[in-house]
Amino acid sequence: MTNTAAIPSLDKAQAFTGRTHKLFIGGQWVEPMEEESFSTENPATGKKLAIVSKATAKDVDRAVAAARAAMNSSEWSEMKPSVRAKLMFRLADLLEANIDEFAALESLDNGKPVRDARYFDLPHAIETIRYNAGWATKLNGETIALSGPGTWHAYTLREPVGVVAQIVPWNAPIAMAAAKIAPALAAGCAIILKPAEETPLTALRLTHLIEEVGFPAGAFNLLTGFGDTAGAALTAHPDVDKVTFTGSTEVGRLILKAAAGNFKRVTLELGGKTPVIVMPDANVAQAIEGAARSIFTNTGQVCNAGSRLFVHQSHFDEVVEGVSKIAKAIKIGSGLDADTQMGPVISRTQRDRIRGYVSSGVQQGAMLYAGGEELDREGYFVSPTILTDTDAEMAVRREEIFGPVLCAMSFGEDELEQIATNANASEYGLGAVIWTNNLSAAHLLARKLKAGTVRVNGGGLDPALPFGGFKQSGWGRENGREGIEAYTETKAVAVAL
Ligand code: NAP
Ligand code: MG
Repeated sequence: MTNTAAIPSLDKAQAFTGRTHKLFIGGQWVEPMEEESFSTENPATGKKLAIVSKATAKDVDRAVAAARAAMNSSEWSEMKPSVRAKLMFRLADLLEANIDEFAALESLDNGKPVRDARYFDLPHAIETIRYNAGWATKLNGETIALSGPGTWHAYTLREPVGVVAQIVPWNAPIAMAAAKIAPALAAGCAIILKPAEETPLTALRLTHLIEEVGFPAGAFNLLTGFGDTAGAALTAHPDVDKVTFTGSTEVGRLILKAAAGNFKRVTLELGGKTPVIVMPDANVAQAIEGAARSIFTNTGQVCNAGSRLFVHQSHFDEVVEGVSKIAKAIKIGSGLDADTQMGPVISRTQRDRIRGYVSSGVQQGAMLYAGGEELDREGYFVSPTILTDTDAEMAVRREEIFGPVLCAMSFGEDELEQIATNANASEYGLGAVIWTNNLSAAHLLARKLKAGTVRVNGGGLDPALPFGGFKQSGWGRENGREGIEAYTETKAVAVAL
């Protein structure tokens, strides 16, 4: 039995799932023009959760027109930066005031432990909105000294890029939505957000708060629906100026192609195969705990999950045994159970995909050190799994599994160059983690690793820290100054005096 008695605001979240959910276009809740709706599932039970509107290309046309109208309206395009900031701070305050309801809703929709949603995803989303609200008043161009003949006054303006399509995945729905919309609003863009088909609920609930705050009509639009219809129509639309996407590398490639028609600006946050490197001088206890957290948090459904563990041979047995002990002790269950540490994966498809990877690894000679067993319960559960004896050619080592599956390898060399070469042996380059107490090794390795983010001895996400990938992990960066500047165009103005 699931113990849900202690979950605050679960009743509110459940009431919200039962509502009629429309599309939000031009400041109005509207019915979709063609197809009516689709239903979502609770991944902890596999049972129906909510019925949601299904946007198609005609709704995309309406939403793009509404966003364009907002960009052309003085109400949004001439709004003072401090007023945009104020609206955003109000949105963050409202989200914070409703944090328990959002946490329960996220847990129902995505399956993640309500505690994780309440103490990680939501605070992060709120902080992201506040952080970017602060940038609204600080987006400046610069004056530039020219060297050509004559006397010049030259400067740059930073203008909003315009109408932005934002497509997000299901693994951290509210945090991803906030990471997309906050910099775009701060920069003065007009947004069309498409959440993942599996997890539209917190984006819908957030839209009610955006409505309550009172952003100008069309500055924010929400289209629930499917990637291959609504998503594809958004990315190909000739009046969309920029598309930002988080999800699979495969869909990222489709988006690049679709964006070519009108040369949309494109930001892509794609997959990863993050290496975690435990050096000979690491604090082993901390490294064990960190390595386990890195792969098992959110049931491994994290783009920079530490899925390849490289341990110096002097600690290999101890580290793998330690991570395995943690894996075996993790309480698996419904995200709404207060005792749960690891929830289900998002869907039957993902569960079967993860199992397929594990059995292909074993067939090719990998050893199942922990996990891998099928769990006898309803819903889409996978046990935390550790594979040893893999080689670099196996799919489990090369591809993003997006589940709680760790490949553990030992290394003998002390040559940093070789350690980095092994860690860099991936098409991905999103993150890397180093455990060491050797200051020089940490900084030298950080330079050699081909990854957008390198963490030494732990550390989490922060909206001030640029996030994005080298190689096939994406294009561009989110967060920080770079993250908001990606929602602007630079205009150079040169005046002959
Ligand atoms: P996905 O297909 O890449 O979905 C991400 C988002 O893109 C969803 O909103 C999706 O809509 C939309 N989309 C799908 N096809 C599209 C298209 N042709 N044009 C525009 N938008 C499109 O990811 P997934 O199928 O949910 O998961 C598959 C794998 O992707 C995972 O196993 C994992 O390896 C990877 N993934 C990575 C991340 C990450 O953060 N890096 C996040 C999620 C998934 P629908 O919801 O309707 O499909
Ligand atoms: Mg998909």
